[in-house]
Amino acid sequence: MSAFLKLLFRNRLAAIGAVVLGLILALVLVAPLLPLPDPDATATSERFARPFSEGHILGTDHLGRDLAARLVHGTRVSLAIGLFAALAAAVLGSAIGIAAGYFGGRTDNVIMRAIDMLMAFPYILLALAIVAALGPGLRNALIAVAAVNIPFFARNIRGITVGLAGREFVDAARLAGMGHTRIILSEILPNVLPVIVIGISTTVGWMILETAGLSFLGLGSQPPQADLGSMLGEARAALITAPHTSVVPGLMIFLIVMSINLLGDGVRDALDPRLKSGALARPRATTRVDRRGPVPEEPAKGLLDLQRLETQFHVGKRVYKAVNDVSLHVKPGECLGLIGESGSGKSVTALSVMGLVASPPGAITGGAVRHDGEDLLSLPYDALRRRRGEKVAYIFQDPLATLHPLYRIGEQMAEAIRVHHRISDREARARALELLRAVRIPNPESRLGNYPHEMSGGMRQRIGIAMALANDPEVLIADEPTTALDVTVQAQILALLDELRRERGLAILFITHDFGVVAQLCDRVAVMYAGRIVEQGPTEEILARPAHPYTARLIACVPELGEGKRELAAIPGLPPVVDSLPPGCAFAPRCDKAQEDCRKGAIDLAGTGTHDVRCLHPEVTP
Ligand code: ADP
Ligand code: MG
Repeated sequence: MSAFLKLLFRNRLAAIGAVVLGLILALVLVAPLLPLPDPDATATSERFARPFSEGHILGTDHLGRDLAARLVHGTRVSLAIGLFAALAAAVLGSAIGIAAGYFGGRTDNVIMRAIDMLMAFPYILLALAIVAALGPGLRNALIAVAAVNIPFFARNIRGITVGLAGREFVDAARLAGMGHTRIILSEILPNVLPVIVIGISTTVGWMILETAGLSFLGLGSQPPQADLGSMLGEARAALITAPHTSVVPGLMIFLIVMSINLLGDGVRDALDPRLKSGALARPRATTRVDRRGPVPEEPAKGLLDLQRLETQFHVGKRVYKAVNDVSLHVKPGECLGLIGESGSGKSVTALSVMGLVASPPGAITGGAVRHDGEDLLSLPYDALRRRRGEKVAYIFQDPLATLHPLYRIGEQMAEAIRVHHRISDREARARALELLRAVRIPNPESRLGNYPHEMSGGMRQRIGIAMALANDPEVLIADEPTTALDVTVQAQILALLDELRRERGLAILFITHDFGVVAQLCDRVAVMYAGRIVEQGPTEEILARPAHPYTARLIACVPELGEGKRELAAIPGLPPVVDSLPPGCAFAPRCDKAQEDCRKGAIDLAGTGTHDVRCLHPEVTP
């Protein structure tokens, strides 16, 4: 809640709206205590007194009633009616929308057609018809305004509920044996609540205006009771001779609606969960680079060379050090494995290379990323963009999230090529077919016309791999590319990558948590823990003689066929949270070899240069 308020008031306009609205609310709440005359007491001798005349700070109206008193009481009525109408419309409309969206089928059809019928009438005409049928009066005006706003909520909430009702967590709730009411209350409602609140905050102002409109026409509040609309209506005849009688209520309506809308926009922005983690700014096209130290000037050791890279997430006052002093390099034709538990910073390392970490909250705070010797972090955006996908390609972890759901596979593959090369439709199709064959998709001709949802997870992942290879990149960064594949396809994909690097000199940075895959494909391997490289060296050597206790434990976790008797040793404890790393070795709390000195100061990555380890008491000395 306090985070919400903080985010809300960072928006200056919303803060102004809140202050103005707060003042108005305070004024109408203490109205009975104010030394105001009776708002309905007429005094014909004092008609149309100007503002600041004696006894009437805002003057009087055509019956000599005190305008200040009428304004305060009228505002009270208008606000109350507007808020009640908005609440009623929100509750009823959302209930209808949730029911229609959740139950679907015929229920949905019947409800939504009825709502459509309501929507087919012009807005104000419908309100007029309702009031005409029920008779004039404030209560009926409220009913009319609420009724014409129900479709707005019903339609909005139904749309969202339809999307939610098919999601896995709702299925899971069904599997758990929950009833409809329970599912709606505990699974659906919390997810649509922010949208309902946003709906209310953006329509309250509108509903106050509508109520005022009905009162202006004489269908809302009845004389002598004041509300802002009826005050305007009564002042109409004297618009020229005594303009202050219209200006006073008009200004109040303006202030109320303006402040509510400013506040409503602020609430909408602050409630959007995507904005919660970062600032109010939208993510930038490339990661913010804010190097605290000098750019490392060492000559590059490979085609891709990460030098003392440091990437952090700044969320409020917290600093998550996701990548800390990471140095890696890959030569052409080489495959480097990057291995570590989930959350150790592998994906963030990979995304930092091409500036793909979302900023805010992410920022690269140190180091360099050299491709062909040139520092990518200092490149202007256009030059960086030209290399993305063309020189350095990615295979992302989540194949469903990276394919566009509304385009056919063929179109998406052609697009990946067309970003960088001008080719005809025929050439694009031929290239797409060739790529699909390369990743062993059966029936490639017909698959080109498929949408992503018509394929299995493994196939989609292979499409992702094919798209990454579309432009013959020099460097391929593969983020757990075979996690969703079955073992036979995995073996084929690994063979394909192996072939590409041997024949075409592709440099591969292969991220995985599986030492089995590393053993098959990688020449060298780097082990990552809590954002740091803790060991790196040739694959065979590390597999045979791991030096860091963490590496040793990771290898011990891999089951081997036919070795059923060996005990699989899970690593006790959990990886640390990277915003409060312990001093010294981050693995020490989980390590059975840890001693006092492990917990003291920073430990260097040391060894022979080919096989290095960041440990004071390694299993073996490299
Ligand atoms: P993995 O090794 O599983 O790929 P990641 O690189 O995705 O791990 O994540 C590394 C660390 O960065 C994790 O501890 C994660 O919590 C943190 N992290 C990632 N994204 C954000 C973010 N937007 N805000 C704060 N922390 C983040
Ligand atoms: Mg990851």
